Amino acid sequence: MVKLHKSKKIKYIRIFVQIISLIFFIFFFVIGKIELFFFATFFISLILAIFLGRIYCGWICPMNTLMIPVSWFSKKTKIQRKGTPKWMRFKFLPWIILCIFIVTMIIGKIIDIQIPALLYLLILSVLFVLVFEPKMFHNFICPFGALQSLTGKFARLTERVYIDSCNGCRICEKTCYTYAEAVIVPGNTKKANIDPRLCHQCFDCQVACPVNSIYYGKSK
Ligand code: SF4
Ligand code: SF4
Repeated sequence: MVKLHKSKKIKYIRIFVQIISLIFFIFFFVIGKIELFFFATFFISLILAIFLGRIYCGWICPMNTLMIPVSWFSKKTKIQRKGTPKWMRFKFLPWIILCIFIVTMIIGKIIDIQIPALLYLLILSVLFVLVFEPKMFHNFICPFGALQSLTGKFARLTERVYIDSCNGCRICEKTCYTYAEAVIVPGNTKKANIDPRLCHQCFDCQVACPVNSIYYGKSK
């Protein structure tokens, strides 16, 4: 088990990595190599998710990095709505978007026109969180998140809970609620439970837990 120190340091390290990753994405976009950089990074992270969980989503993804301040703004200005519209909870939606994304890229290659599908998706994600909570994009829209959840569910290392010391205070649940809804505290057990399919391994709940019941470690 890898026990991390409870400290805001980890949050600052994550923000630092997110900013550096964003700078890399912008750089490769400017020099016209964004597709190569994105697909290489994403494919490696997809494999890594089997070992480390969805680190890509929480630490690297440029959409997530940009969505965080935009979501903060829309929440503060009360533009952002709460709750998930029913139509959005359609489980095939991210796969349909993935198909549209792939077909768009293939058509672009065939007719030899640069269609910036990645840029469109990025704009969509940022506009989306002006109105809806980010968790809806992560859990019901994002095709890359859907792919990450396929390998992330097997994560050998992931955020976990010491059941014995968890007092069911739900602070972790509230911390995660807007962004991933990956940790829930069921009423019957009153013990937190983290779903590695949804968890972005952002460590926010670990930092927030008042009794250090959350750790990043081996799944049993
Ligand atoms: S914040 Fe900690 S103690 Fe509270 S429910 Fe979550 S894991 Fe349990
Ligand atoms: S469960 Fe914790 S580490 Fe995972 S996404 Fe939610 S707040 Fe982040």
